[in-house]
Amino acid sequence: MAKKNKNFVEKVTAMEDDFAQWYTDVVKQAELVDYGQVKGTMIIRPYGYAIWENIKDELNKMIKDTGHSNVQFPIFIPESLLQKEADHVEGFAPEVAWVTHGGDNELEERIAVRPTSEVLFCEYYSKHIHSYRDLPKLYNQWANVVRWEKTTRPFLRSSEFHWQEGHTAHATDEEAAAETAKMLDVYADLAENYLAIPVYKGKKTEKEKFAGANYTLTIEALMHDGKALQSGTSHHFGSGFAEAFDITYLDKDGKSQFVHQTSWGLSTRIMGALIMVHGDNRGLVVPPRIAPTQAMIIPIAQHKEGVLDKAYELRDQLKNIVRVDIDASDKMPGWKFNEYEMKGIPVRIELGPKDIEKNQVVLARRDTGEKEFVALADLEKRLPELLEEVQQNLYNKALQHRNEMTTSVTTMEEFTEVLETKGGFLKAMWCGDLECEEKIKEDTTATSRCIPFEQEKLSDSCVCCGKPAKELVLWAKAY
Ligand SMILES: [Zn+2]
Repeated sequence: MAKKNKNFVEKVTAMEDDFAQWYTDVVKQAELVDYGQVKGTMIIRPYGYAIWENIKDELNKMIKDTGHSNVQFPIFIPESLLQKEADHVEGFAPEVAWVTHGGDNELEERIAVRPTSEVLFCEYYSKHIHSYRDLPKLYNQWANVVRWEKTTRPFLRSSEFHWQEGHTAHATDEEAAAETAKMLDVYADLAENYLAIPVYKGKKTEKEKFAGANYTLTIEALMHDGKALQSGTSHHFGSGFAEAFDITYLDKDGKSQFVHQTSWGLSTRIMGALIMVHGDNRGLVVPPRIAPTQAMIIPIAQHKEGVLDKAYELRDQLKNIVRVDIDASDKMPGWKFNEYEMKGIPVRIELGPKDIEKNQVVLARRDTGEKEFVALADLEKRLPELLEEVQQNLYNKALQHRNEMTTSVTTMEEFTEVLETKGGFLKAMWCGDLECEEKIKEDTTATSRCIPFEQEKLSDSCVCCGKPAKELVLWAKAY
């Protein structure tokens, strides 16, 4: 193999200098995605997909454990069907991609490429739900959806993205409300306990809720640059869609009732959160619980007798305990160190002739850069422990950052000042009027992220208009 005269991985732009460029550099150099041929589309490369697959597998398990079944619906929606629920079509119309031709023939009716699948599920439910015995319907699908976005960025906003969308139908409004809350908790569990991303749970304002929903619940996370990212949403529809699509069932008394529905989605956008919450100037940092490779063995002076044999032996010994790999290529160890730091692999295991002599390895953790010597005899115990410490530390660090970057404000002067100098989440009281919400957005570019479940009373009056305040809202500049 030809050795390139390049011992070190290309450096990424420092995040302090240009955060957007840092993000683009990491996405590219960690080999997560490439750009698709149609503007705004992306190719998720093997390493990016392996991380997403681990996230997806965990979430899929949680979805099934909560009683849901996976299904697969078509990618196409007839225009007439999309238009059945007025708010819904209005919300999505600007981003819909239309199929107008089949081969050379113009279609009689335009067909939408699904931007989301509520109407398809509604149409199905209207045919398959007849009696209270048919309820609840707890469906989920993993799918690609298309939303024609004007400005796009890998993972954060793309014209086509991969996600799961849950669609459920229930006998009562209370059951649907409980489902909406339950699935938000599932998302929060995934974010906090697997991705090590702390989230605020709350309800969207009327302005920010999903088109056609009664209300929308959300998890909001803070990125390293002080901007927020909506990371998963769960919608309560009440009987609005059921009325538009005539989805009824006969209750136990033989009376016809509308069903009550929910939908909830989490997408590859969460990969953007992962990058921007944990990444640093050396590249990506992947939390151990979702890392495709948790530990990478790097042989030192591998041309020396016995080193590679011992390294492979170590891999075989560890492979049933952690997700371990080995790089026995002829690249320099320094290149390998940089490469796997760039890819965010949680722990590096160094093994050279001196280590073999002393029956030890060196463990280097990605999150802090700290190194420790571990006796081979203790490795099977120490390595999983260390991975757990890395996982915890990533969460604690992110939580500390999020908390430090959450500021309570009571006047618009403070609001603007904090937003411009510090950024992050702003807690402020709100009167509940759309006018104030819009004015704050116009004047500051911050949007209401949610009305957090954990409410506080900072003052009696709305931060914007001074009228009596109804609730505390979390504001932030957002992706
Ligand atoms: Zn107000």
